[in-house]
Formats: sequence, structure tokens, C-alpha cells
Amino acid sequence: MRKTLILGVLAVGAMFACSPEPRLCEVCQRGIHADVRAAIVLDNGRRVDACCPRCAMHYRATSTEQVLRIEVTDHDRGSPLPLEQAYLVEGSDLTPCIDHHPISDDTHLPMRICYDRCMPSLIAFASEPQARAFIAIHGGNLLPSGSRTTHAVP
Ligand SMILES: [Zn+2]
Ligand SMILES: [Zn+2]
Repeated sequence: MRKTLILGVLAVGAMFACSPEPRLCEVCQRGIHADVRAAIVLDNGRRVDACCPRCAMHYRATSTEQVLRIEVTDHDRGSPLPLEQAYLVEGSDLTPCIDHHPISDDTHLPMRICYDRCMPSLIAFASEPQARAFIAIHGGNLLPSGSRTTHAVP
């Protein structure tokens, strides 16, 4: 019991030590936003930072490394949440990963995005009512619970 407590304190300390450094998604190299960030925990103990659940799932689908689990972020509270327990909203108008990188050509007309790893966006919630309340404002679809672990990611 005591050992667990000490480990917990160490973990929190490590988190604070890392926080001033802006981190990039190791999958798509975009900046990470606190409300949608995800982390892939590997069998060897390494944590891979990802900008959103979609990148984390892409990593799991394509990496040769053994993925132990994926943690996503409860959008409302900003707290970590296991992917398997998260309610994921796909395709809402909230696109944190691309908001700061508007894509336009010289004519300043928005270009059609043909493929983007982070799109349609996936936003995670700890409960279904939270997800439904979000959809009422931002649109999107609640993914069926089975797809949280088996959802095919390109
Ligand atoms: Zn990413
Ligand atoms: Zn992303």
C-alpha cells in the first residue's frame, strides 16, 4: 500500500517536470492539446504521446511494438481515461488537431482536405450523457461501444 503511494507521488512529480515543454504528437508531429491528448503505453514501459485518440489508435494499428493500453482524455474534465471506457464522438465540428493550421493556397480559398490522419476528429468522454450533450452542440456521432477497441483506422 505504502509502495503504491510512493510510486504515485513519483509519477505526479514526473508529470510536472515534463509539463513546461511543449510536446508533439509522435504519430503526426502536431502540437498536443490538453483536452484531446492521448498516450500509448507500451509493453516496455515507454509512453508515446499522441495528439488525439485517432493518432493513438493509428499507432496501435501500425506499430510493431506491443501496446499495453491507450489512455485518452475526458474532454470535459481533462483527466485521463482508458480508451476502452471512453465514449468517443466522431466527426464533430471540434477539430483541435487542425485548428491552428488552416490549410489554404495562394488564392486564400480553403483547400479541400483529402486525407488527414486526425480527421474526422475523435473526442473522448467519460460518460454517455456527456457525449450526447456535446453532440447536441457540436454535432458528430457517438461510436458504438464495440468500436472503441476494434474500430478500423486507416
Ligand atoms: Zn497526432
Ligand atoms: Zn490528432
